[in-house]
Amino acid sequence: MIKINTSHILPDTPYLLDGTESAEILELPPDADPPLAPAGDIAYHLSAVMAGADLIVTGRASVPLATVCARCLDDIRVTIAVKDLCFHFEKVRDLEVDLTDDVREELLLAVPSCFYCSPDCKGICPMCGTNLNHGSCSCDTRQAEPEPDAAAPSPWDQLDALNLAPEKPVKKANVKKMTAKSSAAKPAAKKANTKPPTQKSAAKKKSKE
Ligand SMILES: [Zn+2]
Ligand SMILES: [Zn+2]
Repeated sequence: MIKINTSHILPDTPYLLDGTESAEILELPPDADPPLAPAGDIAYHLSAVMAGADLIVTGRASVPLATVCARCLDDIRVTIAVKDLCFHFEKVRDLEVDLTDDVREELLLAVPSCFYCSPDCKGICPMCGTNLNHGSCSCDTRQAEPEPDAAAPSPWDQLDALNLAPEKPVKKANVKKMTAKSSAAKPAAKKANTKPPTQKSAAKKKSKE
């Protein structure tokens, strides 16, 4: 049980509570998918302060769990950690407050729906079941992928078929105006910058060497 007796908390001084608690309190279901089992105790580091008659507890907690990789099914050990615990209890002056359920709930909420042995786990071969992290196999897994159908219309065909020209011809006067405007808006070409490097100077340099 993770408990704090608020009568022990001095004013203006955080009351520190570090310890461990059996992971049995998590009550992990035995038939969880993926399987989850405690692989050690819950560790917690809490700091409690009183705000009037209210108790505010902040801190972190973690627990190691045994499970399996979702890609290669290897047994793995993971750590579930919550770094920003924050609990608020109202009107608990001189009372013993049990934090066990709150810590339990926060840890369970932090458990992801699946785990991986590593971010780049190669998984298992879909044909022979070889764990591709530990070795390779000679299966041609490309055959398992569907061949692209050459007769099927490409998604780009639809784009090509689109007629992007305006349906009605634009009024002549408008066209004139627009072209005049656009040509005026064009910046003058910078001749100085577009000058290609002369071959003369390069040749001079060569002859000197
Ligand atoms: Zn894996
Ligand atoms: Zn294989």
